[in-house]
Amino acid sequence: MIIDGHKIAEEIQEEVARGVKRLREYYGVTPCLATILVGEDPASKTYLSMKRRACERTTIHYEEYLFPERVQQEELIKLIQELNNDLKIHGILIQLPLPAHLDEDFVLERVSPKKDVDGFHPLNLGNLLIGKENMPPCTPSGIVFMLEKIGLNLKGIHVVVVGRSKIVGRPLAAMFLNRDATVTICHSKTKDLKRYTNQADILVVAVGRAKLITKEMIKEGTVIIDVGMNRVEGKLCGDVDFEDVKEKASAITPVPRGVGPVTVAMLMKNTLIAAKSTLRG
Ligand code: NDP
Repeated sequence: MIIDGHKIAEEIQEEVARGVKRLREYYGVTPCLATILVGEDPASKTYLSMKRRACERTTIHYEEYLFPERVQQEELIKLIQELNNDLKIHGILIQLPLPAHLDEDFVLERVSPKKDVDGFHPLNLGNLLIGKENMPPCTPSGIVFMLEKIGLNLKGIHVVVVGRSKIVGRPLAAMFLNRDATVTICHSKTKDLKRYTNQADILVVAVGRAKLITKEMIKEGTVIIDVGMNRVEGKLCGDVDFEDVKEKASAITPVPRGVGPVTVAMLMKNTLIAAKSTLRG
């Protein structure tokens, strides 16, 4: 089975659009997402345009703030504080990566945890670790949503996550634990990666290396979630050698049209959650 991330994303966005309509009709509140881009990175611009289009589809209001590559950190923080205090803004997203002269962790921590729709603030990540998923990061929550959507019960399942970044691997491992899965995390220092990937009922790969995973590295019937987005000879491909493994896996996400669109849809969902939470004060 090829897991159609594009279709799942459309369903999530339709649900969000209904929620936005209700919020507007009953409370006069229109959710608003503010995004901040520093510099001219073409990939970042593409990701932002996907987010803007998703806002249009879900009728979430969208505001974009652009800074030149050499912006001073203080200037960026000043805008974040203004957006934190602006009652019309419900979600704030800082497009990563930031240029090297900016302290990414410091900047992300300046975003109010209530408006942290990317789920990267230490308070939201800490909550995730203790089982409170009030603002989960979008890629991990999208992956869990996809797995549950195809009818998988994660309880007792052995999940192997390759990659331990703070935006994908680590929070995802916590979300799997929250659902009683048994979790193995691998990374660049893992010795004999194949030994672990071969034991996975579900294998999630978030590394950023094209075709790292081949059929010798998986067991028959594994469910594979390929998070990787790599450009090879101008074409987008994942971390898994799709053609090589597709007969052996029982289900797999393609790249493109897999995890990517679901991630963007979860951002819309988080923005709606953030807007709703303002009603509770
Ligand atoms: P990072 O570079 O932050 O992390 C990569 C991880 O992979 C690290 O934990 C690293 O280990 C590990 N790693 C590197 N080489 C190996 C190896 N040979 N074997 C095992 N583990 C290895 O990347 P991100 O998590 O930000 O992104 C990963 C990929 O997912 C990228 O291609 C990115 O573009 C894509 N992505 C896609 C998204 C989507 O929506 N579809 C969203 C976010 C990311 P160590 O910690 O030891 O360095």
